[in-house]
Amino acid sequence: MPNKSTSSEPTAGAKQLAAEAPPRKLYTIVKYGDPVLERSTPVNQKFDSELEQLAEDMFATMYAAQGVGLAAPQIGKGLRLAVVDVSSGKNPEAKIVLVNPEIIHAEGEVREEEGCLSIPGFRGYVVRPQFVTVRAQNLKGETFEIRGENLLARAFCHEIDHLNGILFLQHLSMLKRDLIKRKIRKLRKEGEW
Ligand code: ZN
Repeated sequence: MPNKSTSSEPTAGAKQLAAEAPPRKLYTIVKYGDPVLERSTPVNQKFDSELEQLAEDMFATMYAAQGVGLAAPQIGKGLRLAVVDVSSGKNPEAKIVLVNPEIIHAEGEVREEEGCLSIPGFRGYVVRPQFVTVRAQNLKGETFEIRGENLLARAFCHEIDHLNGILFLQHLSMLKRDLIKRKIRKLRKEGEW
């Protein structure tokens, strides 16, 4: 049991941290079945503080859900915006915001198990490129290119798919996809989805 002097320290530290970073809004993640997940998003043309806030809230929502990527449709917003962090918040430099992203180069193939925060509890093997180069805009509207390998390449592909209304289920065999869809239908009937 900590004594009084040691237990007061973390409280002071937490207060200081709260003063530096404003509390973030945590969004409810939309689940499979909501039509917003299967709609393509229009090109984003507005780069303002609202978009910046939203991106930070998306990071917070993603970390809380222990994901490595989150696309705006997953919080019910039809925006061409996604966030990715394969370090799960451990490395601030790994935070990547993609506005209007597109894959301009892809190389190699990796078959790996994949999941989605909008389809919790289900995973499946999906073939993705081993390397991809993405061209996107940042929150200021500046165009940049970024190369990803393995998990990062997979996250880029998965999130860009989301912006095009595509879910990882569509990359599975019809048998596996139907099995997952049937299980989700059952969960929904039981009020657990
Ligand atoms: Zn997803």
